[in-house]
Amino acid sequence: MDIPALLKSHFKLEIQEVVPLEGYGSSNYRVDTGNGQFVLKRYRDDDDRRRLLETESRVLKELNGLKFDFPDEVDTVFLQNKNADNEVLRLHRYLQGEFLAQVSHTTALLHSFGRFLGQMDRKMAKVDAHKIGAREISWDLRYFLRNQELQSCIPAPEDQRIVDYFFLQYEEHISPIRYKLRKSLIHNDANDWNVLTRDGKVSGIIDFGDMCYSWLINELGVAITYVMMGKEEPLEAAMAVIQGYHGVYPLEEQELDLLYYLVGARLCTSVCNSAYSKLQIPDSSYITISEKPAWSLLRKWLSINPIKATNKFREAAGFKPIKYPEARKQKKRRNEVLSKSLSLSYTDPIQMYRSAFQYMYDTEGNTYLDAYNNIMIVGHCHPSVVRAGQRTMARLNTNTRYLYEEILSYSERLLETFPRELSKVFLVNSGSAASDLALRLAKSHAAKEKIAVLEHGYHGNTQIGIRVSHYKYAADGGGGKDPNVIQLPLPQVYGSNLTDDGTAGTYFANEALRLLAPEEHKVAAFIAEPIVGCGGQVPLPKGYLRTIYREIRKQGGVCISDETQVGFGRLGEHFWGFEVYGVVPDLVVLGKPMGNGHPIGAVVTTEAIARSFESGPEFFSSFGGNPVSCAIAEAVLEVIQHEGLQEHARMVGDYLTNRLLALQKEFPVIADVRGSGLFLGVEIRTSDGSPGTEIAKEIKNQLRHMHILVSTDGPYDQVLKIKPPLTFANRDADQLCRAIKVILEQDNSDLAKKK
Ligand code: PMP
Repeated sequence: MDIPALLKSHFKLEIQEVVPLEGYGSSNYRVDTGNGQFVLKRYRDDDDRRRLLETESRVLKELNGLKFDFPDEVDTVFLQNKNADNEVLRLHRYLQGEFLAQVSHTTALLHSFGRFLGQMDRKMAKVDAHKIGAREISWDLRYFLRNQELQSCIPAPEDQRIVDYFFLQYEEHISPIRYKLRKSLIHNDANDWNVLTRDGKVSGIIDFGDMCYSWLINELGVAITYVMMGKEEPLEAAMAVIQGYHGVYPLEEQELDLLYYLVGARLCTSVCNSAYSKLQIPDSSYITISEKPAWSLLRKWLSINPIKATNKFREAAGFKPIKYPEARKQKKRRNEVLSKSLSLSYTDPIQMYRSAFQYMYDTEGNTYLDAYNNIMIVGHCHPSVVRAGQRTMARLNTNTRYLYEEILSYSERLLETFPRELSKVFLVNSGSAASDLALRLAKSHAAKEKIAVLEHGYHGNTQIGIRVSHYKYAADGGGGKDPNVIQLPLPQVYGSNLTDDGTAGTYFANEALRLLAPEEHKVAAFIAEPIVGCGGQVPLPKGYLRTIYREIRKQGGVCISDETQVGFGRLGEHFWGFEVYGVVPDLVVLGKPMGNGHPIGAVVTTEAIARSFESGPEFFSSFGGNPVSCAIAEAVLEVIQHEGLQEHARMVGDYLTNRLLALQKEFPVIADVRGSGLFLGVEIRTSDGSPGTEIAKEIKNQLRHMHILVSTDGPYDQVLKIKPPLTFANRDADQLCRAIKVILEQDNSDLAKKK
């Protein structure tokens, strides 16, 4: 039977027009009759539906007492179909008004929205919910984790990781206190296409299809999510709603403290379900109506410090903000228990509290765009890495004297990224431990003592590490050069009047060979970074390493590539730095990004070198290669590969380099832009060409006040170092370059005077 016929026979209505409406889980129609307008909802009849509809009837009756519009039930009929599923037809009052999505959101409107929800929830709390108390729908934030099943429907891995981050945060922040939260019957879908307005105020709501017995605070979690979409200042919009709600139905502090993550959860529920529905019904505009604004708020949400959001929510309800220890006091305590030889960045140091991908959040509520911390290669708190650690730590942590899977699967996987001749792994706990071990391996294999190093190089904090690090031994109080160290000049193309077409490489290699000549056959190893970080992000010239490696090997020495800073895909074109120069080292030192912040390092070497070491005493590291570290490191490798982060580093690196080169054209203080992928250096010089130490410092400090993190390095601290987590995107590069431009424009004259 068609709809007009059904309406006529079951509701005795004289139909003028029937207009289909969009809906989830039911077929909906607007029905125009001589006696007014109605909405017809047509459902499949089953026990769940009946329970929901019965509760809806009770709710709508209870809400009748409020001076707002609700879709009152006019009549309901149950159809016994012969050859098809039984159905329910329910006729509702049709509500007039414009949807919240169609009008401009004044503070008064948002406040009225909050008041409306508060009043509605107070009434709903009185309704017996036992019939639907056991309903478990994926739109109920109590069951948010169910949506994990849909995560893989999201096509882009960089989007998946954001959603996964919020799953992880939900487990961290919400799951532990879930039993302490107030429960009630709630509408659960106060989105802007369900909420009606009239004369600048909220006048009613439709669609109780997602109603559930859930945490009361979820009502607001859902509501504020939608009013924040598309807003410049989303928190202000949320505050107006919260204030209105709290005025009529007081909230608890613990409820407000969860809202940041509940909003994240609702956004993720929405994007997971849109992604799933898109696969089922590719061209439904209704199902995916919120998809774009949800994604854009989700990305923006990550850039909002949760502490800031939470304190704003508290403020809206008149609660005191959460206070953290003052940075000044922390600094004092630090000086009492820690040595001053541990430096702090910035005269006014930052007290960090949380982080997510390329963002770091301080205790004051600020969000920093991290363009500096290369250790977090796959992004701060990447959920896959955190979970790998949590899972394994909860299962087994032991040492290499037992057999376990993690060390094997990680070592095999790591070795796949290396040329075949590099086939043995030693696992340790830091880059320093790795470079120290690499030098021991080299010495024992070559049976010689001398080590050739580059000026301005840094390889670690152990005794041997310092001995081979010009950056340290040549610094004030550094103790000077060890007689067994041969110091080779930094082969820097910038400032040399040579070009990087092989000429510079040959020139610097010849210089090095001249210094190596008197030490013939005494050199055990040559160690260098592919791009010398502490030298000021200095790439080696073409052909240089090839010549040096050949010479060192000719004399019976071995070659070490310290990939601690640049390895694991950061350089974009290549996974390892040595590949850039077409050489294969004998030993590779790994650290920093290997565990995305978890302390793990490694030496990768040849069969022959590993064998030479076997004739000495046993090598044992209590923590090196433990299952937890290996699981974490394997998760890091997996993420780099799964998310295509090497290629991403290449693309964003090129984009950022081009933007920096454009700035160089505008501002002569930028003397050189160099590096590769997302490992870049910006050389700052004064107008007379001398190192721009103070200018670089000023830029770094001003960037910090604009909430962007970079560092400076180089012989005169004259180089801005840019080496962000590889989740850094083009829009982050834009933010960084816009900020540098503002600094250089504002203070151009002042900066130019600085030396
Ligand atoms: N080698 C290089 C090139 C480094 O940059 C570092 C750390 N800055 C190390 C080795 C030592 O690593 P870690 O600090 O983990 O001991």
